[in-house]
Amino acid sequence: MENIFTIRIKPKNNECLSSFLMRLCDQNKVHIMDLLKSNNKFYKVYNLSSTHQLDTNPKRVFDIKKISLITGVLERDLLNCSLNSILNVMCDRVLLEEITHSKGSFLNGVYNIKFRYFCPNCLADNLYYKLEWQLKDITICIRHNVLLTSTCSKCGQQQPYTHTNLASGHCFNCDNTLCSKLSTELIYDDSLIRKNVWLSQQYKNFSAIFSSETKSSDISNIYKDILIKFIYLCSNKVDIFKSEDIKFISRDYKYKLLNSLKVTKLESVDISISILFKVLWECKITVENFVSLEIPSSFSKSLLDYLQNLTVCLTPWCQHNNSNKMLFKINNVKSKTHFNLHICICCSVKFGNKRVDKVWEEYGDIIEVGYALIRPLVNAGFSIVDISRKTSISRYKVDKMVSYLTRFNLFNEVINNEFTPNFIDSFDYSYIMKVASTNENETIKKCKKYYKITKRETYYFFYNPIIQKLIYTN
Ligand SMILES: [Zn+2]
Ligand SMILES: [Zn+2]
Ligand SMILES: [Zn+2]
Repeated sequence: MENIFTIRIKPKNNECLSSFLMRLCDQNKVHIMDLLKSNNKFYKVYNLSSTHQLDTNPKRVFDIKKISLITGVLERDLLNCSLNSILNVMCDRVLLEEITHSKGSFLNGVYNIKFRYFCPNCLADNLYYKLEWQLKDITICIRHNVLLTSTCSKCGQQQPYTHTNLASGHCFNCDNTLCSKLSTELIYDDSLIRKNVWLSQQYKNFSAIFSSETKSSDISNIYKDILIKFIYLCSNKVDIFKSEDIKFISRDYKYKLLNSLKVTKLESVDISISILFKVLWECKITVENFVSLEIPSSFSKSLLDYLQNLTVCLTPWCQHNNSNKMLFKINNVKSKTHFNLHICICCSVKFGNKRVDKVWEEYGDIIEVGYALIRPLVNAGFSIVDISRKTSISRYKVDKMVSYLTRFNLFNEVINNEFTPNFIDSFDYSYIMKVASTNENETIKKCKKYYKITKRETYYFFYNPIIQKLIYTN
């Protein structure tokens, strides 16, 4: 593979990586599919419909080192043809390359991944495809003031993201040229043009502005700082934080952001970059202004106070996540580590404020241990004994977590079926309802004996929200 490119070319100004590789392959008479197939480290069967990942988060799927070697283009220059540098601002670098990590919500709905967008005039001048043309926010070519399009003017078909015909500027369907001067109508809407020019600049400046700012060591604090600035901006820069002052974003989105501020170690900023730019535009400030925003200490303090008192369900899979609708105060349990204990009677998870720093978090470890640690291992096929050995968590506890995760259908279907007791329909809850108490071990012991079932099966019924409500709110 190393010597397949005898003709060497360089990426052009603002060109996206997929465009560069299409051109390179075209000139060297190599099929782009062959290049991508042998340099992707993820898919068994490579399919051209995932080539947009070259331009969004290339390191996750492709071996960029190898592509750099065979193309003779520096790794850094290849990555600069993608949104990689923007992602680096918003997410832990290591996580970005992790295949199992979804790329975070900052690119959600930001990028057109299915069809290829272009300006026919630009193609006529210089045949290559720009990265910003794929951004959903950018709808016009700011050089020619025409609408960007993805359709062929002759046959009306939308162009696929990657295709050998695109390298020579031809429609994949009818082979008509996609390059054309004067093909499209000029846009006269000044505010639309201004907004597109502004957005294009913000996207271009984004990573440079942040990277000069974010040399500091604690990445989690940098992410929190970005979040606080965003919340401050959405609150119209008031001196004292009030949840109801937050504008521009939906209620759910608001709670999602507020809750991520409560995470001890934040791994990414989950603000969609499109929403960030929307708010910046409304507030008439640039990314540069945003980075240098000074947050009044009264605002930070009141936000902190608010977060400490924010009692909502934090369970990611709960229908009532971020809401206090199903939260009930627990009055019959005292804890040395937490106060203000609550239980969500939708997901059976308990919460409380940590005594040391008053942070609102799960009281127990279903989310952190069960969901985050044990669940992927079970899904990957490890046995309970293996998992217990691997994680140094007792078998008893692994069993208990597995019961919880089965009850809430959090494994893949095969495993869920395997672990679900086969007598759930005929199970008679009256005994467990009679003996259930805050002494969990004793409750489990009694029920196991009475029903003549396994500990895991007992826990399955124990985690029924009705039982949990009975235990903790009576
Ligand atoms: Zn143009
Ligand atoms: Zn066509
Ligand atoms: Zn819940």
